[in-house]
Amino acid sequence: MKKLFIILALFAFTINTQLMARSDIAAFCYHQVEPVAKNKFSLSLDRFRSQLKYLKDRNFESLNSEELLEAIASDAQNVSRKVVFTFDDGYRTVYDYAFPAMQEFGFKGIVCIYPSFIGSSLAMSWEQLSELIKAGWSVECHSMSHSNLASKYHTPEAEKAFLEHEIVASRRIIETRLGNKVRFMVWPYGVYSDRSIKTAMDAGFSGAMTVDGGANYKGMSPWQIKRQVIYSTDDMEKFLIRFGMAALPITEHYPAPGQVVEQLATFSCRIDNLSDYSPEKYVLNAKATGKKVTFNFDNQTRMLSATVNSPFASGNYFIDIYLRDKKTGVTAQHGWLFSIAGAGSRSSY
Ligand SMILES: [Zn+2]
Repeated sequence: MKKLFIILALFAFTINTQLMARSDIAAFCYHQVEPVAKNKFSLSLDRFRSQLKYLKDRNFESLNSEELLEAIASDAQNVSRKVVFTFDDGYRTVYDYAFPAMQEFGFKGIVCIYPSFIGSSLAMSWEQLSELIKAGWSVECHSMSHSNLASKYHTPEAEKAFLEHEIVASRRIIETRLGNKVRFMVWPYGVYSDRSIKTAMDAGFSGAMTVDGGANYKGMSPWQIKRQVIYSTDDMEKFLIRFGMAALPITEHYPAPGQVVEQLATFSCRIDNLSDYSPEKYVLNAKATGKKVTFNFDNQTRMLSATVNSPFASGNYFIDIYLRDKKTGVTAQHGWLFSIAGAGSRSSY
């Protein structure tokens, strides 16, 4: 028991040291907050409040969408101690429980809604969403009907019409009903494709939110906003691991984020900032959903090249790169999603 306490104390110390100068921006993805958690995507109010208190006690400030875009712009000024709270789908419990708690701690959030849900018995009303906006919150687009936007269509015309409906028409409805400016497309199930990104770019969105792992940082693409999903089973220790994950800037990817490929035997990326890699200093790891991965890192080109042990079935997959600095104990993560052709809906964010 005593040993466990020492391990936990050391862990807390590592996180706190890192917080002293933290400039990466953690973004959290919540769904429901209520007195008693009902499922994996609902968080008990007590647990939620203790997370808010932890961040408030360390002087963290929250960003709405406009402020997040400013903070990751390459000429951003002060980006230390900022966090982002997002709430997907538009559940009524966010208005009833999360909103008052956030107000009490001086935080504001970002609600990501899909219009076909709004007004139903489990969802917020348009009036309640307007109230959040008046309190400094942002409301963003999470599609029209919560569809998997990497779904396959028989013709390019059918796919175009589908994406226009889910991305462009839904945004128009939100802006018309609330009079706000919708800046982000928030991918249902965290699933995006090269074509869904292009549709959102052409429609004039400023960026997109994923559930890819890692943190956000100055100079990154606003189309790859990373969010840590917070689950009802996350105790404080788990929450701090998600919160403490540093950003790992990566400039080149194969496959590209959202790319749909027929099959994938190898993947690669360039870790630009890793100029002094050695196994004595760092623990480097590469993962792909459900696969055994072998990899190597070339110090000259800073390219990580990896091979997977078996073919992928059709679907959506995450690749994650982890880099732990042995001296500071800080782990940085960069995750991205790709699809094997024929992808269907797999998860339920
Ligand atoms: Zn959702």
